[in-house]
Amino acid sequence: LVTDDPILYRARVAPDRQALFEIASGRQLTYKELNARIARCTGLLGDMLGTRRDGARVAMLARNSVDSIVLAFACQRAGAIYVPLNWRLNAAELRPILADCAPALLVHDEEFSVAVASLADVDPEMAVISTADGPAGLAARIEANSPAEPVSCDAERACVLLYTSGTTGQPKGVVITRGNTFFAAVNFSFVGEIGPGSVALCDLPFFHTIGLIAVARTTLMLGGTLVVSDRFTPARTLAALADRKQRITHYFAVPQIALALRNDPAYSAADLSGLHALFVGGAPLTQALIESYLEDGVALVNGYGMSEAGTVLHVPIDRGAVRDNPGSVGLPAPLLDIRIVGEDGREVDEGEIGELWLRGPAVSPGYWNRPAETAAAFTEGWYRTGDLGRREANGFYRIVDRLKDMYISGGENVYPAEVEAVLASHSDVLDAAVVGIPDMKWGECGLAYVVLRPGAVPTAEAIAGHCAAKLAAFKRPAHILFVKTIPRTASGKVQKHVLRQLHSDELF
Ligand code: ATP
Ligand code: MG
Repeated sequence: LVTDDPILYRARVAPDRQALFEIASGRQLTYKELNARIARCTGLLGDMLGTRRDGARVAMLARNSVDSIVLAFACQRAGAIYVPLNWRLNAAELRPILADCAPALLVHDEEFSVAVASLADVDPEMAVISTADGPAGLAARIEANSPAEPVSCDAERACVLLYTSGTTGQPKGVVITRGNTFFAAVNFSFVGEIGPGSVALCDLPFFHTIGLIAVARTTLMLGGTLVVSDRFTPARTLAALADRKQRITHYFAVPQIALALRNDPAYSAADLSGLHALFVGGAPLTQALIESYLEDGVALVNGYGMSEAGTVLHVPIDRGAVRDNPGSVGLPAPLLDIRIVGEDGREVDEGEIGELWLRGPAVSPGYWNRPAETAAAFTEGWYRTGDLGRREANGFYRIVDRLKDMYISGGENVYPAEVEAVLASHSDVLDAAVVGIPDMKWGECGLAYVVLRPGAVPTAEAIAGHCAAKLAAFKRPAHILFVKTIPRTASGKVQKHVLRQLHSDELF
């Protein structure tokens, strides 16, 4: 069904259009130049991997760059599998991931060379290339190679292995096929309103689905321009958005980035009027943040998705929709079937909470090396997301919480996300997370971890009083622990399995 990549097509129909702009170096590439570079990189992979290239994993431990994109497409053309690694992880965290995907080649930035050296023993056969300047570096080797033709293969062929965030445990490798990348990009082109005139700024890392698929793939597939940034700083992003020459139309954030941007002193003078949309997703969004942006006339458009399926739900790009549906994740992407399923395996009624199940051509066939987890999550043609949600009368969806995090107190379901939102609305609370723990009387009860704002000194009673005013008794946390920080993943998601471990000794 899908035998080549969209860059080949763009290079034929609009060779001189700008494909990429790299902020760090100021480099620009047209579609023709990008295509030629991918062809040489495909040649390099052929040379290095030889007959082993079919299905070989090519891992990359590097910040966003033009050559990350080049390597990703070259892997697809060579029949290999691109594995973007999370560079925010330390060597001990990367070790099991590297052992799991067993790459034939690892490409890395100099910045991570100490970690790479300490991981060399995972596989002595693994070839290593640095992105540093010089004749042995990736760029020079791409340029020195002759171009190679793409291998033709079908849509079911894996071309990316994307590791999940590791919010609920060890990151899992999600197998992404050529068909998946194509249809996930089609989905995002609809919900994100991306087309040939779009200029998308991406400082979200390419090791997650938002950066690699929603932003990069979609923009390039539709013939827009991708502005590649290797790091997020509020100043750099605000400057890029204000740059009239670049005319950025689409910017993508996770909630913590959207918050950092809004809190930056330069924000008040920033001009965001050129933006078609400011996207946010990947983790729950606070009401306060949505409202603070709306006050400035900026609609923070929330979306929901995951490594296994790409973008699934999205609020329409329309200030009215954002204002009228606070906290909603919007409507389904076009190429997805969604069901909300109850404990009995049947679809629940409108407004009722159940697990989101997904089906469609963007949904991954399963996990790498994990037959048991694949069988549990991918059944009867559906992918079970492990997320709880509900559909409202107007067809908009809401994410309630993760199924794993829900607990039952005195026979009633408690969704920690709801309790966390109440805790976060206390003016002295900077951050909060709630987990369910065993309780003699109620079966389970809530334990709240609370981070106070600097200088604030409220007591557990004050926090409990705030909860009592806003929550039914069974939802109120029975224990409150003040902590300095809450463990989060690189994308800002609370790692509750780490939290539970942290304090279990003190409590039980
Ligand atoms: P792991 O699967 O390793 O536990 P993870 O599920 O966090 O980690 P990702 O695939 O990166 O890994 O994230 C997808 C998950 O993020 C979704 O299943 C959902 O729980 C959460 N999520 C994504 N978007 C939103 C959103 N807009 N609001 C709330 N939660 C979201
Ligand atoms: Mg997950």
